[in-house]
Amino acid sequence: MSLKPLMFMGQIQAFEREGAKHILDRLWAGGIRQLVLGDLILSTGETRGPSFAPDLGFYEGISRKPPALPPDLEKPSRIFADAVKAAADKGYKVLFHDWGSYPAGCLNDPEQLRFGLARTRETFARYPETHGFVLDGPEWGYEIEPEHRSDVFRCFCEHCQRKAVELGFDLKAIEAAALGMKARLSRLSPKVMRGFMATQTGPFDALDLLLQEPALFDWLRFKTESIQHYVGAHYACVKELGAHLQLACGPRLAAFAPLTGYNFRRLGEVTDFFCPKLYFWQHGIDGLKGTVYRYAKTLMEFNPGVDEQLALDFVFNLYGFTMPGVSSLETLSQPLNREFFEQTVPAEIAKMIFRTGEVERLKPWVGLHHGGVRISSDELSLLLEAITTSGLQSMIYWHYSDMTQDEWQILQRFIA
Ligand SMILES: [Zn+2]
Repeated sequence: MSLKPLMFMGQIQAFEREGAKHILDRLWAGGIRQLVLGDLILSTGETRGPSFAPDLGFYEGISRKPPALPPDLEKPSRIFADAVKAAADKGYKVLFHDWGSYPAGCLNDPEQLRFGLARTRETFARYPETHGFVLDGPEWGYEIEPEHRSDVFRCFCEHCQRKAVELGFDLKAIEAAALGMKARLSRLSPKVMRGFMATQTGPFDALDLLLQEPALFDWLRFKTESIQHYVGAHYACVKELGAHLQLACGPRLAAFAPLTGYNFRRLGEVTDFFCPKLYFWQHGIDGLKGTVYRYAKTLMEFNPGVDEQLALDFVFNLYGFTMPGVSSLETLSQPLNREFFEQTVPAEIAKMIFRTGEVERLKPWVGLHHGGVRISSDELSLLLEAITTSGLQSMIYWHYSDMTQDEWQILQRFIA
């Protein structure tokens, strides 16, 4: 078929376990020419640590310091460095993901950003064969389930406060508007929800709601500006290290991306490509079915009298997609049907192409699970078909050490 996929090595220990030559030859024979390596964590027995010993000179004046390399990991560290070099020598394009740069707290914390940039500089110094970096996210939350790790109603911390002042936003007013919206979600009667769904709406109806409440619009603008600044700082850093180096970031599915602070058009100015997440599994971390399940369940808990069908239909209307075959929370645990892959997935891909403008700038993550209910081989085939028929030319397969022989056979059928 017609894809040029990148293979994600999510467990770099695999190079020691299986032998770098074996892995590199196997993937090359299957048609893979690009690797994404990360996170850069090694483990042996009880010991876990980074893939290289830090040079603290890179972190002068920064309070967060990188972890030391435990003596047990010195040999795996050398094996990994040799594997990176061998991959580049063989002709692979090598990118890093999760290279230890991710903010430990809020992405508006300037210390975390300084650390992330220092970590990027040091990672390139350690592995000069690299061709670029793929940021994980960064993003703001998009879940309404209380206390969820991706809670949409965060963050209003001191760093966000400082950033808001710098950007000219009133964070107190924004927080009040956000909490007001949260309160309204628990006052949705079946009548209001049905009224929303029975009304034909377009983009100007969203604008109409935001005009009524400018602080809510400011909230979205603040999130977008924060991400633009964070990714932009990494882009400047990476280009300073080498004009040939690329930077990418990873939005959610197009339906959720604006709520997480992503504006593809603006972010295109400070990235070389995007890796939106085509993650559809139930439960676990951040699959589409899990998110729909949590939204519907939370709306029902907030609003007595709302049944499963109404809650699900409301979520589909809100985000502008459908899930053929999903008519109850229980059906979210069953495999996705052919119609989903022939209608919903191409529609979401079309949205990301429309917002990005260039199909060459899209290399979505494709994964089968992250905990939760694994996507089957049949669903993987349908998903890859949807990707190719939608005109995408590339993707990142998540991940090598999780891949069965059956899945590898399926993937190879789609490689150009
Ligand atoms: Zn914050």
